[in-house]
Amino acid sequence: MLHGSCLCGRIQYQYRGDIDEISMCHCTQCQKGQGTAFVAAAPVATEKLTFVRGQEFLKEYRSSPGKVRAFCAECGSPVYSARDDLPGVRRLRVGTLDTAVEAGRKYHAFVASKARWYEIRDEFPRYQGPST
Ligand SMILES: [Zn+2]
Ligand SMILES: [Zn+2]
Repeated sequence: MLHGSCLCGRIQYQYRGDIDEISMCHCTQCQKGQGTAFVAAAPVATEKLTFVRGQEFLKEYRSSPGKVRAFCAECGSPVYSARDDLPGVRRLRVGTLDTAVEAGRKYHAFVASKARWYEIRDEFPRYQGPST
């Protein structure tokens, strides 16, 4: 069981699964949404993600047609994003996890729009657009 929370701690969640994959997305929306160079997000099964506290603080912002980005209405921590056409999957913001995780697969996406000031210095695969 993995545990996670937002910055203010009002939102607490549990995940009954593993983190197998982490994407570092450099698209311009993720830069704005996170306030930094990229987001680190992991696809997780919606049915295994349980909000044990503070669900009323979760606010879903519709950042584009068919997609929401959920954050804590009190402290602003981004928590997940979700697509209407993929209800079984949420893309968890890995920085909100309190449990230390590793992931077998890590990659960079939308490198074509990455921040000019940020240089990728790791060996993970890089995709100009989405990963597949
Ligand atoms: Zn919060
Ligand atoms: Zn993105």
